[in-house]
Amino acid sequence: MGLSGIQIFKLLPKTNCGDCGVPTCLAFAMNLAAGKAELSQCPHVSEEAKAQLSEQSAPPIRTVTLGTGENEVKIGGETVMYRHEKTFYNKTGIGVMVADNEPAEKIEAKINNFKKLQYERVGLTLRPEIVTVKAAGGDFSGLVKKVVDETDAALVLMGDPDALKAGIEVSASRRPALYAATKENADAMAALAKEKGLPLVVKGNGLDETSELADKLAAGGLKDIILDIGTRKIGTLHKELVAARRLAIEKAYRPIGFPIITFPCEMSDDPIYEAALAGTLIAKYGSMIILSDLKPETLFPLLLERLNIYTDPQRPMKTDQGIYPINDPGPESPVLITCNFSLTYFVVSGEIEASRVPTWLLVQDTDGLSVLTGWAAGKFVGDLVGAFVKKSGIEEKVSKKRLILPGYVAVITGDVEEEVGSDWEVMVGPREGGHIVPYLKENFG
Ligand code: SF4
Repeated sequence: MGLSGIQIFKLLPKTNCGDCGVPTCLAFAMNLAAGKAELSQCPHVSEEAKAQLSEQSAPPIRTVTLGTGENEVKIGGETVMYRHEKTFYNKTGIGVMVADNEPAEKIEAKINNFKKLQYERVGLTLRPEIVTVKAAGGDFSGLVKKVVDETDAALVLMGDPDALKAGIEVSASRRPALYAATKENADAMAALAKEKGLPLVVKGNGLDETSELADKLAAGGLKDIILDIGTRKIGTLHKELVAARRLAIEKAYRPIGFPIITFPCEMSDDPIYEAALAGTLIAKYGSMIILSDLKPETLFPLLLERLNIYTDPQRPMKTDQGIYPINDPGPESPVLITCNFSLTYFVVSGEIEASRVPTWLLVQDTDGLSVLTGWAAGKFVGDLVGAFVKKSGIEEKVSKKRLILPGYVAVITGDVEEEVGSDWEVMVGPREGGHIVPYLKENFG
């Protein structure tokens, strides 16, 4: 954001209508300047002001999208150096390289691993998203078509302009990124990317040359640029990535304000060392990492590292408040209540499922706080729990009214009983998730 709060204020309607969620236009302008609000929150801003402000309020690193549908991949768009300053927005895309001169069985194995290696954790699917297809003298368009037909991957097409044209023919609907414009072929590659409306990787030899070339192409009207700094030595690359982020965020230096693709696959022949390099590049500041292959023992830790770095530290992980039927419950099934902290929900629902006992799980909104913290914060106390049970709609689903409270809040039993009335039998369940299976089997199995 290049404008001050006062400069932004001058462009706002100044009606102080409050529709943006704050009482005055000045307060909104200050929030916008501090990156705490989005321009779209003011529905009354003029088109002219919008154009000016949008340009100024664009993130210092451009957001670039490749892929489509459920596997659309957004990279870049970051606004801070460190996650604790605010949050990181678009996680590092993880991908695998396949080349058209590799043996068919190796290609098959890589594609199978890409499809197979997906993990469900806390309601999220952790998976790789990108396949980079490299033209190396084989049937390039045939391989691109195979990847498109057999996977939902976002694509990076790697080759000279003629090869890329053939690859685009069979993959344009996936919005592939093209790799790469260099000093030698920049005009032809930029023309192709512009004609097809696709993102283009700009590759230079080091930070200076790469940003110079990106700047030239951006001045020529190319918007969706991804950088490849060209460096393949981790020490130098790490320094360049930090410098690039610093220049973009702290100095608002636009020629470097693009996401950066990295290639651990070209930095080592040792798969374990390659994974270690990838770990470094996820931490600082690779927007995409391309691996030579995907193996569970190296991919899984990278996915977990990425999940941790790209989880918003300011937003608790929450599940929706509501009634969750597990194991096909009926009117005589017990009702177990818990908070909406995601981890608690997934542990409790998983244990109920494992017990095979038909159960209604009631999840109460505690702003994402766990059971004990929610109780201490006054969000999971007896009268609120009782009131939620009454208004949740669970009474229409059960004839035998048995409510199981988490063992850690046995102390609220009396207040809950008072609130729900004598129709309900209020019971105290186990403290630990691990004890839910025997508890349900013993009492309701
Ligand atoms: S919605 Fe727009 S016009 Fe209304 S107070 Fe907010 S900034 Fe001002």
